[in-house]
Amino acid sequence: MKNISVIGAGTMGNGIAHVFAQNGFEVQLIDISQEAIDRGLSTIKKNLDRMLAKEKIDQATVDATIRRIHSCTDLPKGVAQADLVVEAATEHVDLKLKIFQEIDAHAPAACILATNTSSISITRIAAATKRPDRVIGMHFMNPVPIMKLVEIINGYSTEEEVTKAVVDLSTSLGKIPVACNDYPGFVANRILMPMINEAICSLHEGVGGVEEIDTIMKLGMAHPMGPLQLADFIGLDVCLSILRVLHDGFGNPKYAPSALLVNMVAAGKMGVKSGEGFYDYSEGPKAAKVSAQFA
Ligand code: NAD
Repeated sequence: MKNISVIGAGTMGNGIAHVFAQNGFEVQLIDISQEAIDRGLSTIKKNLDRMLAKEKIDQATVDATIRRIHSCTDLPKGVAQADLVVEAATEHVDLKLKIFQEIDAHAPAACILATNTSSISITRIAAATKRPDRVIGMHFMNPVPIMKLVEIINGYSTEEEVTKAVVDLSTSLGKIPVACNDYPGFVANRILMPMINEAICSLHEGVGGVEEIDTIMKLGMAHPMGPLQLADFIGLDVCLSILRVLHDGFGNPKYAPSALLVNMVAAGKMGVKSGEGFYDYSEGPKAAKVSAQFA
């Protein structure tokens, strides 16, 4: 594999493009918005400069990485030479189905089509294409240049040879790929989201305050971050939509999202990205204090 097309230049897409380019692949970064591409490229540059300042890479690596990243807003053109496409566009099922139909129509027949979705069924996305055997989940973690794990998700029809190729490729990026099968939430979010939801239910019932819940989980379980703070970082809207996928997919009431979470999202309290969630980020993510609502 040599040519990688990344669809979506947002939080995840620019990180994925960065990691492939730094490891010698030619990358096409595709987005519908030129503004998103410009923002993505500037984030990549900033992250490379930070690595350079910490002497983790040299100037030649910075220059070569930037040179290998090409960009466009024309999806058919951007995937025409791809050996692998990694889709990291907005988490919306109809959008992903439409994008995969378009990629399928324009990418070479041998190209593997991967999605970075956090929760949408790989099997359902694959069924929108004429090559479901070559569709797979490649779930990078945020921030992509730093996090080692890639959760590899086999859809119902994914061929073994495709899984092996994607596992080998992830290893060549310095990542640790772990394969699993396509059921709602896969492994990471099926286990993480109920924990976050339970933390929110505990807060809602007054079992403990924000700091008490987070401190107990941090110190007691050796987690680097408490579940409420983590939810703020992921985005409360994202947590809610993943919980809904689990709830719909399994039909089990244990996955029903906390009413407090539903209310906070309705009120526009999304966590770090909106400036407030369980914590207040008005003075930046590093100066978080418990939101006035819960203090
Ligand atoms: P984001 O909102 O930061 O970026 C999404 C990008 O997709 C935007 O730039 C948008 O312009 C672009 N886009 C929308 N429609 C498009 C189209 N038709 N063609 C091309 N580009 C299009 O989102 P994100 O946080 O980077 O998430 C991307 C994917 O990664 C989602 O599936 C999400 O579930 C998954 N994911 C996110 C995280 C995370 O922590 N943010 C972690 C793991 C996986």
